[in-house]
This record gives sequence, C-alpha cells and structure tokens, in this order.
Amino acid sequence: MTRILIAEDEERISSFVAKGLESAGYQTLIVDDGADALDTALAGEVDLVLLDVGLPSLDGFEVLRSLRGQGSTIPVIMLTARTSTRDTVDGLDAGANDYVAKPFKFDELLARVRSRLREPVTVGSMTIGHGDVSLDILARRATVAGREIDLSAREFALAEEFLRHAGQVLSREQLLSRVWGMDFDPSSNVVDVYVRYLRAKVGSGHIVTVRGAGYRWE
Ligand code: CA
Repeated sequence: MTRILIAEDEERISSFVAKGLESAGYQTLIVDDGADALDTALAGEVDLVLLDVGLPSLDGFEVLRSLRGQGSTIPVIMLTARTSTRDTVDGLDAGANDYVAKPFKFDELLARVRSRLREPVTVGSMTIGHGDVSLDILARRATVAGREIDLSAREFALAEEFLRHAGQVLSREQLLSRVWGMDFDPSSNVVDVYVRYLRAKVGSGHIVTVRGAGYRWE
C-alpha cells in the first residue's frame, strides 16, 4: 500500500490532509518537525513526501536539500506559503518535484499526489523529455537535440510544466498558479513573456498558442 509522509507542524492542516488521503486509499504518517521528516523519508518506508516549508528544527528546504544530497529520489511535493513565489522557485531548485501553494483545495493536492506517484523515478537522474527537448530535473539541465541550453529557474519550471503535460492545453491561469504561485495577478502577461523567452531557446515550433485557451506543447 502506498504510504505518504505528511511533514507539517500545523495540526489542523496535517489532520485535514491525512483524513483526505486516507479516504482516497493511502496510508499516511504525520511528523511535525524537519529532522523527523528527513529521518523518516530516508528510512525508505514512505512513497511520497508532502513537505511544509516552515518546519521546526530543519525547514522544508533544508530537509529537501539533505534528502537529494543523500541520493534520495523520493517524490516530494512542497507546501509553500501562499504569498511567496520565491518559495516555489527555491523549492524547485532544491529538487522538489512539485509544489502546492497554501491555502489549497484538497482535490488539487490529491491530483498532484496522484500524478507524482504515477511518474517513474529513476535513481541518479530524473529526466523528462518530449521530441528533441529533454530536462534533467535533479541536475536542472535542459537540452535541445542533445545540445545544452541555458534556462533560468523560471523558464525551467515553465518548460517542465509543459513537458509534463505535453499535448494538453494549459491555460495562462494554470501556468501562473503552477509556475509562479497563486498570488499573481491573473491579468498579468508574465506567462506570455516567458513563453516567448522559452520559444526563443527551445525552438518556436514546440509551444503552440491556442487562441482564447492558452498554450499547448506539441
Ligand atoms: Ca508550518
């Protein structure tokens, strides 16, 4: 049975999440401290970690860096502060597989958990690719047709989001909330700007504009 570690020091949140995950058929384990989270994740008895950023003893970033530094490839979803896009970028840089901004709807969290558990994780590297574009998630390296290209943290996160959902239309709102965090003004054109940057780096044919709906990775 799939076991999920919930590292969260707010009892109200951890019990809400645990209850939901258990009714979705998962086993859960709750810790409320960073050092305990690290020990439990390294012990290899859980399949996925939900990791709060603000934890006592070691914060979520320290736990994550230590986990990845010790070679663990366990899927980690960060629970980030609602107002901090910095948390998101830092979390992805430190090797998080995904993040959910607080406050979140349980269904949103569950969807992320399910999708992370479906992805095969290979030891030592985690590469996702589509066509001639490939991203090494742990090393934060991107290549096009075997040639390495230089992407900023935000461009990398955007490319990752597209590759994980290749062939699907992603709306600007979805991209904003997943790559920039929940607090961005939905009328901002930052998504369009970054899609332009990304097209210039990976080749303009990969990202198609779907009028009135968003973008799709072809
Ligand atoms: Ca906290």
